[in-house]
Amino acid sequence: MITFEKGITVKYANKLLIDGELVGTAKGKTFDVEDPATGQVIAQAPAGDAEDIDRAVRAARHCFDSGAWTSYTAADRAATMWKLSDTVAANIDQLSELEVIDNGMPLVFARASLNSAINGLRYYAGMCTKLNGITSNISGGGRQMHAYTQRDPVGVVGAITPWNAPLATLINKIAPAIAAGCALVCKPAEQTPLTSLRFAELIAASGLPRGLINIVTGLGSVAGAAIANHPGVDKVTFTGSTEVGKGLVQAASGNLKRLTLELGGKSPVFLFDDADLERAIPACIMAIFANSGQVCFAGSRLYVQRRIFDEVVNRIAKAAKEMRLGSGLDAATQLGPLVSQKQMARVLSYIESGITEGAELLSGGARFGDKGYFVEPTVFANQNAQDIRIVREEIFGPVLVAMPFDNLDDVAHIANSSPYGLGAGIFSSNVSTVHKAAQIIRAGNIWINCYGILDKSMPFGGFRQSGWGREHGIEGIEPYLETKSVYTMLG
Ligand code: NAD
Repeated sequence: MITFEKGITVKYANKLLIDGELVGTAKGKTFDVEDPATGQVIAQAPAGDAEDIDRAVRAARHCFDSGAWTSYTAADRAATMWKLSDTVAANIDQLSELEVIDNGMPLVFARASLNSAINGLRYYAGMCTKLNGITSNISGGGRQMHAYTQRDPVGVVGAITPWNAPLATLINKIAPAIAAGCALVCKPAEQTPLTSLRFAELIAASGLPRGLINIVTGLGSVAGAAIANHPGVDKVTFTGSTEVGKGLVQAASGNLKRLTLELGGKSPVFLFDDADLERAIPACIMAIFANSGQVCFAGSRLYVQRRIFDEVVNRIAKAAKEMRLGSGLDAATQLGPLVSQKQMARVLSYIESGITEGAELLSGGARFGDKGYFVEPTVFANQNAQDIRIVREEIFGPVLVAMPFDNLDDVAHIANSSPYGLGAGIFSSNVSTVHKAAQIIRAGNIWINCYGILDKSMPFGGFRQSGWGREHGIEGIEPYLETKSVYTMLG
């Protein structure tokens, strides 16, 4: 039981979930968890290590190999997933508040992310009964044959997740994996373990087969690396930085684990001068400042057609100055803190580099207050020094850099010269312009006259170094399946 500011009391077990039981770590180690709005240590989380991961992998392996989950009918698997989604829904108030206290995000974002995760469980529950193969009438050696394909689960999945939408990202990996018939070992981010630990408690009481979902909190370099290197893991699904993703590619080569990678971004937004500015400007503001810029597809590079550059950029800078920063539990808060001191220091050093490299600071640019890890919403104009770090590199904070562009011919080079290709926004009232731009831009998610809308039915993922594979939609279950071809000689 922990009691937070504003008198919120959250009871949670603070234990790993391994083989259906809530247990401590083998060595009894813990790490500190902070409230980023105050910088205070609010809890201790279990620091799982390779031994704990090994226990969890064995439990998942046993669940998978014994058929404890795949022996359910597809309809029963679907019903069980619905029950799990109902459990999350019944606890959404508490889980959202816990998420805010652990991560800092405004409560409205926490609720939205968890509602989306509930939808994800329900979306993939519906897919349990639809994992069909194909039939093929072929002949072999002159004899008639019957052949069909069967969709089998890939096996034991290691799910490694980041801190920016902690529980929702974890559930978004669990949903397609268990719909496909896999068992999982989950390793949430060390900065934000609390909702995953509470979820572990809910799963332990939910009657799911033992070992189907195991949750081990711990450091990435220890518990995460142990998953990546474990020969009992058949697939890793990872959301996080491109740097760690590259390391996972190497680790996966040991037993050729399948890999899904959802990595970083530096997404451009193109604002043409015929756009409806009353809609486009607020959308561009939210594209970068939602969740304080800690969003993989944040629209962090804003390209404004030259004729309206000054007007747009001044309006955005003015709006940024007026944004309200504070605790995510305060209903008036628009920007919460960054997740940690380290992240705040990283973002401030990028702001420093922007100033040093010649960009013009129009708003923000500093830490906000002296308590917690707040950074002011920051807007740079960069009309001259195009190729500077704040334009090229992912900052993962509330920092927008705005640049002018001339016409549609500029779009391909601007968008596609980045090593990333996760998202892009296009604002224009010309149908030809927006669809030509959408064709040209090599990125996994394109938003026209809006930004950041996601739906469970639509695949999500990145081109280039933004990742491998897709999550959500029909494509999102494919990485959890193997296809088996079965040939029958007819007598
Ligand atoms: P991170 O890569 O540092 O950590 C992500 C996860 O990997 C954490 O659970 C961490 O403990 C673990 N990890 C760290 N080192 C590891 C190792 N050596 N082996 C195995 N696991 C390890 O990323 P982060 O700082 O937590 O998150 C921010 C990054 O995530 C940003 O780059 C952001 O763009 C990206 N992200 C991408 C998406 C997407 O869908 N594309 C979504 C959210 C965040």
